[in-house]
Amino acid sequence: MPAKILDGKAVAKRIKEKLALEFAALRAGGRAAKLVSFAVGVDDGTTSYRKSQKKQAEALGVDYAMVDLPAEAPKDAVVAKLHELNADKSVTGIILQLPVPKHLNGEELARMIAPAKNIEGIDEVNLGAIVMKRYLNLPCTARAAVELAAESGIDMNGANAVVIGRSTIVGKPAALLLLDRNCTVTLCHSRSRDLPAIARQADILVTAIGTRAGMVTGDWIKPGAVVVDVGIIDVGEGRIRGDVDFDSASQVAGFLTPVPGGVGPVTTQMLYLNLLDAAKKA
Ligand code: NDP
Repeated sequence: MPAKILDGKAVAKRIKEKLALEFAALRAGGRAAKLVSFAVGVDDGTTSYRKSQKKQAEALGVDYAMVDLPAEAPKDAVVAKLHELNADKSVTGIILQLPVPKHLNGEELARMIAPAKNIEGIDEVNLGAIVMKRYLNLPCTARAAVELAAESGIDMNGANAVVIGRSTIVGKPAALLLLDRNCTVTLCHSRSRDLPAIARQADILVTAIGTRAGMVTGDWIKPGAVVVDVGIIDVGEGRIRGDVDFDSASQVAGFLTPVPGGVGPVTTQMLYLNLLDAAKKA
C-alpha cells in the first residue's frame, strides 16, 4: 500500500488557525505580541522575505516592525541597536536578517539577541536548554520535523528513530527532541558506515542532508516507517526536491512528507509558536 502523505500545508494551516486564536486572546488581554525584523543594509532579498514575514504576522494578529540600519553602520552601532531591542519590553521576538554586510559577523550578532527573544532558537542558550530539557525557543525546523512525525499517530515511546544529518540547527536538535519523546535515537552523518542498513532499522526516519536529491531510496526504508524529509535541494527551473526519492520511498514507507509541502510550511509556523510562547512568558 502506498505511503500516506504527511501534508505539511494542511498541518501548518491547522497550527496557524490555533495560533491566530491565541494571539488574539493575548491582544485582548493587552499583551499583543510584536515581532521585529532587524536588518543592516536592506537588499531585494530582505525586502521580499519581509513581505511574506509581514503578511504572515498580520494574518496571525502579530505586530510587525522593521528596524533598519544602513549597510555601512559600524559594529558598535549595530550592537547598540540590538541591546536596545533586547531591552525594549514591547518587543517579543527579534529576527536578524541574514546575510549581514561583510564587515559584520551574522552568527556573532545573532548570539547577541536575548535568548528569550531569539525566536529562531538556534543560539547556544536555546539549543543548550534542550539538552537540559528546559525548553525555551525551539529550533523551528527540528521541531517541525518532530511535529510532522507525531502527526502520523505513531507511538514514539521506544520507537527506533534514525536522524541523518548532525547539523546544529536541524539534525542534532531533532535527535534530542525525539529522545525527549522516548525514542531510541541513532544520529548519522557523512562518516556513518552502511547508512542504508541503519536507516532500515528506523520506525521514524528523519533526513536532513541536502547533498543529493533522492539519495534515500525505498530500499533504505523499513516497511511502514514514518519518513520525514527535511532536505531541500535546488534542482533548477525553480524546482526543489528532498533527500528522499519520493517514488520508491512511497512504495515502502507508512507515512511520508513531500518536498515541497512537507517540513517547510510547518517550520514557518514553529517560528510563531516560539513567538507565542515568548509572549506568554513576557
Ligand atoms: P548541513 O549542511 O549543515 O548538514 C548536513 C548534514 O548532512 C551534515 O551533518 C552532514 O554530515 C550530513 N551529510 C552530508 N552528506 C551526507 C551523506 N552522503 N551521508 C550522510 N550524511 C550526510 O545542513 P542543514 O542541517 O542546515 O540542512 C539540511 C537540509 O535541510 C538542507 O537540504 C537544507 O536546505 C534543509 N533545510 C530545510 C529546512 C526546512 O524548513 N524544510 C530548514 C533548514 C534546512 P557531516 O556532519 O559529517 O558533514
